[in-house]
Amino acid sequence: MKRRDFITTTALITGAVTINGCYQESKKSINVVRGKKVKLKLATSWPAHFPIMGTGVDSFAKMCGELSGGSLEIKVYPKNILVPALQVFDSCSANQIDAFHSGVYYWKGKNSAFSIFGGMPLGLLSEEMITWLKFGGGMELWRELYGRFNLYPLIGGSTGPQMGGWFKKEIKSISDLKGLKMRIPGLGGEVMKRLGVNPVLLPAGEIFTSLERGTIDATEWVGPALDMMMGFDKATEYYYQGWHEPGSILEMTFNKNRWEKLSSEHQAIITRASEAMTANMIEEFRYKNAKALQELYRRGVKIRKFPNDMMRLAKKALDEVLEIESKKSSDFKRVLKNYNEFVKLNRPWSDISTKHILEIRD
Ligand code: CA
Repeated sequence: MKRRDFITTTALITGAVTINGCYQESKKSINVVRGKKVKLKLATSWPAHFPIMGTGVDSFAKMCGELSGGSLEIKVYPKNILVPALQVFDSCSANQIDAFHSGVYYWKGKNSAFSIFGGMPLGLLSEEMITWLKFGGGMELWRELYGRFNLYPLIGGSTGPQMGGWFKKEIKSISDLKGLKMRIPGLGGEVMKRLGVNPVLLPAGEIFTSLERGTIDATEWVGPALDMMMGFDKATEYYYQGWHEPGSILEMTFNKNRWEKLSSEHQAIITRASEAMTANMIEEFRYKNAKALQELYRRGVKIRKFPNDMMRLAKKALDEVLEIESKKSSDFKRVLKNYNEFVKLNRPWSDISTKHILEIRD
């Protein structure tokens, strides 16, 4: 190993403090990273400094700058500044921006298999999703399928378990779902449709007013922290526990040509910074959701579980949806097969470790 490589690798492993130390020890080595200034444009699907997700991207960009000694400058453009929120994928694919931060499930129209990388209803939790992607083969498949669009994805955080949504009326049995208009996207929406719900898609800015005016009867969003910010507890009475997004994954995706032209040092810095961002986001969601839940209880929000008969039918409906999607797309079938192999491997360990401890600790 060359001295330059050694210093850089050591600095990356041990972090920013060591970089400063190395910098004094060996200015020349660090100058290799510092020498060639690279500027990247990163667009997001979130408003400027949007809590947890948007601020996570801000910290990621800052960390890339710090770890590279300033040689890597990532400029973050919130939604609609450079590109509309839901055009970041196309824009990056077409070389108009260098990178984007968004939700994988938004692009299922391009390839239905993408929805699986974003998470599975009644499926893996955030930590388990990340394990599947990193160690179970998920990431290779994701990169292969995104490669067709000239894109290179990294995990860009996760929301942790999401809530089931806000309802104006209590759901006591499956019959209460008939004809209900609910804002719910993705595979969860497909399942709800089979249970009698009329799923609708609404931009974030229109959800609260639609709920207040009764244009919709229910909505899902994320979890206590972000939902409370949207004011949903002021328009509805019941808040249901989750099932459809147990571990949604966000993406930090780069233009593939641009990525391949980056130095290995910059690639390593971006990769480590995205891992740090992912861990931090899960922890921040956990803390802020716990605090917000406390406040929601104080406000008298009624927290409910969906009835058992409904969840049984939801499982059945999900199997049907997955079977139909697998028949329609060989990519979906292949990704689902890989995902299910990990689910099968993970289950016995998860049952005797995490599930067991959650059951007995109180
Ligand atoms: Ca959601």
